[in-house]
Amino acid sequence: MKLLLKNATLWDAAKGWRQNDLLLADEVIAAEGTLDAAQADTALDLTGCTLLPGFVDAHVHIALDDGPFLEDAPLGWAKNGVAAVRDCAMLSALPVADFIAWQRGHGDRRWPLVVNTGKYIDVPGGYGSELPPGHQIGLLGQTPEEMVAAVDALWAEGCTKLKIALDDSPNPFNPTLREHNLSPELIRAIVRRAHDHGMRVTAHVLEAKHLRTLVDCGIDDAGHTPTDFVPDDLLREMVEKDIPMVTTAVGPVQDNTPGLKPKRPGPPPPPPEVAGEMAKKKAAATAHAVDNLRRFHALGGRMLLGTDLMFSNNYDTCACIPVLEMEALREAGIPVEGILTAGTRDPADAVGLGDRLGTLEVGKLACVVAVKGVLSGGFSPLLRPDLVVNRGEILTKKL
Ligand SMILES: [Zn+2]
Repeated sequence: MKLLLKNATLWDAAKGWRQNDLLLADEVIAAEGTLDAAQADTALDLTGCTLLPGFVDAHVHIALDDGPFLEDAPLGWAKNGVAAVRDCAMLSALPVADFIAWQRGHGDRRWPLVVNTGKYIDVPGGYGSELPPGHQIGLLGQTPEEMVAAVDALWAEGCTKLKIALDDSPNPFNPTLREHNLSPELIRAIVRRAHDHGMRVTAHVLEAKHLRTLVDCGIDDAGHTPTDFVPDDLLREMVEKDIPMVTTAVGPVQDNTPGLKPKRPGPPPPPPEVAGEMAKKKAAATAHAVDNLRRFHALGGRMLLGTDLMFSNNYDTCACIPVLEMEALREAGIPVEGILTAGTRDPADAVGLGDRLGTLEVGKLACVVAVKGVLSGGFSPLLRPDLVVNRGEILTKKL
């Protein structure tokens, strides 16, 4: 099918803002310019609309427990304008091979592209080892040789990325953990082997001191933004080494419609006597993360929008473009174009899809999102786009 999108205000990180027509032919972007409607089977007039590349969420979780894998989140992302996601570790004891086989069986054009990190590689008792207590979800080892074997195993299963963790803070899922962490020697062994395979390593990290260690050991991106102060010299070093930072400052959108029940129960809510204190801590953590991102961006750092979406009461509406992250960055004074780059080109590059996604360049996949208006009032229209085309298939059309 040839679809002509006429008179849109286009933006991408390659060419910035401009007024043009875009021709989508089958699965790819075929042409941009002043184009003749006779070239297309269908033409849509997008006068007054903003047209962007499909988004990439650099941090999500699809496999949440040992039950059947749920299609809800992937279906939500695709129809809401997220063209690709990086699954940042299965939170499940099921085999990686089953997870990837399930994706291959379902991954038609109603799905985003999914990039897999497989399972956490960790030491017994580490952040990514168990969930809940006693239930192993990670690939565990204690020697450099065991780490190399774990990397090789994930590579053989078809994972192109890896996930590790450094964390000794309390975790809502399992407060008994955090006694053990990967040593720098083990992290270096993992990173070296991953790079031999051309795999990139992301890391769960919430504290500046751990980020320091991970950067020293050669990780490729930080899977979160730390929630304490990250000194400028470390941010500058990340810019120099081109190590991007995934935002996860605010987290995923949730649906507050009364009566919605999650298909998968998340961690229990905190008891009322500590809920207020926890909310205060969360607000302080978010403020630190946003400030780190603001300074990182000002120094030239690459941000990757990521939500850490896992448990949700409605994937139909919550698996979406990371508008909460985007609004937090906008309020911090980061320019609109910098935020859009963090949701499109930079995460596409970081997850290894830069040749297929992230900009509107001819030859890339026909993944586009359009909304009415020019986003001058904020990013909220992107929550429910007016037009979504995923690899040439129209999934949402309200125009
Ligand atoms: Zn996560």
